[in-house]
Amino acid sequence: MRNNDRRMISRRRFLKQAGLIAVASLPGSDRVALAGLTSAGIENPPHAIKNKAPLAQNAFYMLPLGAVRPAGWLKNQMQIQANGLGGHLDETWADVGSNSGWLGGTGESWERGPYFLDGLVPLAYLLDDDRLKAKAQKFVEWTLTHQASNGMIGPSGNQDWWPRMIMLKALAQYQEATGDPRVIPVLSRYFNYQLAALPERPLRDWGKFRSQDNALVAIWLYNRTGDPKLLELIRLLRAQAHDWQAQFSDFKFTQPVTREMIKLNEGQGLSDLALSTHGVNNGQALKAAPVWSLLSNSEVDRAGFHQMLAALDTYHGLPNGMFSCDEHLAGRNPSQGSELCTVVETLFSLEQSLAILGHAAIGDRIETIAFNALPGTFTDDMWAHQYDQEPNQVEVSLHRKPWTTNGPESNLYGLEPNFGCCTANFHQGWPKFAASLWMFSNDDGLVAALYSPCEVRTMVRNTAVRILEETEYPFQGNVRIKMEPAVALSFPLRLRIPAWASIPVILVNGLPVNTPHDAGFAKIERTWKAGDVVELRFPMSPRVVKGYNDSISIESGPLVFSLPIEESWVKLRDRGMTADWQVFPRSQWNYALADSEKEIERHSVQQLPQQGSPFSLAAAPVKLRVKARKLPSWLAVDGVADPVPQSPVASSEPEETVTLVPYAAAKLRITAFPQLKS
Ligand SMILES: [Zn+2]
Repeated sequence: MRNNDRRMISRRRFLKQAGLIAVASLPGSDRVALAGLTSAGIENPPHAIKNKAPLAQNAFYMLPLGAVRPAGWLKNQMQIQANGLGGHLDETWADVGSNSGWLGGTGESWERGPYFLDGLVPLAYLLDDDRLKAKAQKFVEWTLTHQASNGMIGPSGNQDWWPRMIMLKALAQYQEATGDPRVIPVLSRYFNYQLAALPERPLRDWGKFRSQDNALVAIWLYNRTGDPKLLELIRLLRAQAHDWQAQFSDFKFTQPVTREMIKLNEGQGLSDLALSTHGVNNGQALKAAPVWSLLSNSEVDRAGFHQMLAALDTYHGLPNGMFSCDEHLAGRNPSQGSELCTVVETLFSLEQSLAILGHAAIGDRIETIAFNALPGTFTDDMWAHQYDQEPNQVEVSLHRKPWTTNGPESNLYGLEPNFGCCTANFHQGWPKFAASLWMFSNDDGLVAALYSPCEVRTMVRNTAVRILEETEYPFQGNVRIKMEPAVALSFPLRLRIPAWASIPVILVNGLPVNTPHDAGFAKIERTWKAGDVVELRFPMSPRVVKGYNDSISIESGPLVFSLPIEESWVKLRDRGMTADWQVFPRSQWNYALADSEKEIERHSVQQLPQQGSPFSLAAAPVKLRVKARKLPSWLAVDGVADPVPQSPVASSEPEETVTLVPYAAAKLRITAFPQLKS
């Protein structure tokens, strides 16, 4: 518990704050007080809270929101989000505007307000941005001050459990960032109400398939209050939940789903069959087995995570780290899409699963998705996004597309292509990734779980520790970690060793160290002193990875590389502060690649941009050159690349050298290539 914060900030000041519309409008002295509250103080920074018995222990624990702050390119990227749709959505989209049901209005009263807040809260507090904090505070205030006498939260016109599950996550993050003493009592009353009401009014449709997210916050609260009723509630949530582990222990959905299969045209979109094959539900459910394992302490539950991920990879895996879901499971053809909600929900699930299970491979997967699929589905300025992105995306248009169940606008870049869920939900992607870079180990040490530039301030063994991580990862493989404990302090430091890093080098104060590996983490146990420097060198040799129809994709470090197709952007319509876009190809894309890893040349072509995104095509900091031949028989129909042909293939076209760029830099791209006969 953040006792220091609580002492610092009186209840009176919070009540005062509660009456304020906007933090930015506070008088100067209060603004200083609030800043002291919301930023991790150097002397007493926030610390992780472990699981309370009888819950099983995590391998690692998330640090409280605010303990890890982005720096370098990652901070720039989050600033782009704040300057783009992420920081302005409420000004241009009525569903989260002033008439939202979550602000007491008569407008949208279901999931969109909570979705927006679930990403806006961490974005605002990690950037320490008063303008965004004020926007978030309006939703928080309304929710905290309009709890019904029975404990229910949210708009009274809608009693669905599902949107509350999202709001719980947002409130927990807000409490971590601010220490606001009103949050825990509100959550306690809500969970009491839920425990009493669930037998009569059980989970249904979305809530039934997503209840592990509800349980996650009940666990969060149990670790702070120890109220045994919360354990009862978690058991009840599991009992009423869809049994994801049963689904994946006998996995039947090995083929692309069709509208007919789930009887979509007969109004069966909320049947168990439709919901169990729904992409977002599957992305969220990746954390289900790890979450339930905290209550059961069962190896079977822990193994359920790997069983689920392996089945999704085997039957629906794509070369950008995602599984296909457009928006139901869609097979491995790289012309199928993945919904943006599923991208950010899968990231969140994997971040939580990495903390609970402690397996480095989960960190590898998070990076693949975060550095490729996530930025690849936004315009560089983050004012427009897609609903569905494709690894082999040769046109973005209203042409007929191969989606299992989505509509014709699904891969446009825009305000709300196909449906507005992703518009409200995408905000959590980057901020939660940033918050997960460092974790706290169960043996009271620190863990470099994911790599990106950042600053950490937290407590380890009752001592304040500051860490500065400087790196241009994922664009190059050197990471410099500067340790600054307040006093010399012994604790274990774990460093994730990516599976692709065949010969990693670790230096402490310039001297190489050989360390034992523990589930993919190098563990250095020593007395750390201020100024100690840990350097990591992960060689990023290009790799050839096999995929659908024995196609090949090229990776280097955590980046997936794509052939960029020359783009012609055509505005379809203005949408308030943003617009909807089609993108048409202006160059040929049907190449087959030679597959010799040794012949692929890696070029670090320029430094990371000081401003703006390193994921834009113009700024691409690294490129690959690879031998290729055109394959004239590989065509597109109605703007969709035919499934990548079975490899190997023969081509009598002349050999060329083509340049590949990071996946996200190419909004039109080929990522899975036929392999040339050698
Ligand atoms: Zn969505």
